[in-house]
Amino acid sequence: METHSQRNTQQRQAVLEELRKLTSHPTAATLYEIVRRRLPKISLGTVYRNLELLTRLGTIQKLEVGGEEARYDGNVQRHGHVRCVKCGRVDDIDAPSLDLSGGTANDSGAYQLLDYRIQFLGICPQCRAGARNTGSLGKAPVEPDETANDSLQP
Ligand SMILES: [Zn+2]
Ligand SMILES: [Zn+2]
Repeated sequence: METHSQRNTQQRQAVLEELRKLTSHPTAATLYEIVRRRLPKISLGTVYRNLELLTRLGTIQKLEVGGEEARYDGNVQRHGHVRCVKCGRVDDIDAPSLDLSGGTANDSGAYQLLDYRIQFLGICPQCRAGARNTGSLGKAPVEPDETANDSLQP
């Protein structure tokens, strides 16, 4: 019979492994749907708690955007993100690198600079294609669609 702590470790490992397979920066709810296929008894609360713990440990990173549900990234290397303003999808992007080695910048005031996050806003290829297609037909803009949840389809 497995112990409580073995189960916890197994759950945390599953959350981490499934997150690292994805480049779609899932929300806790999206990742829960995926992890549940592997561990049917896991709860959304457990997935959420493990994501928070892994974020605190620096094993994963949490992407927080004002007014948006937090998304998680298994890649902790410094990299930029681009978020589609239409469907909310988040992709990795090469971002210009800033040199913080001096620890200060002219306009940083009294702050010692430690790190930075770059997030671009844009319109993803799917939404651009959708906008073109519906535009030519004179229809209303596309609804927020399911493309961000592709990974949930069987
Ligand atoms: Zn989009
Ligand atoms: Zn990323």
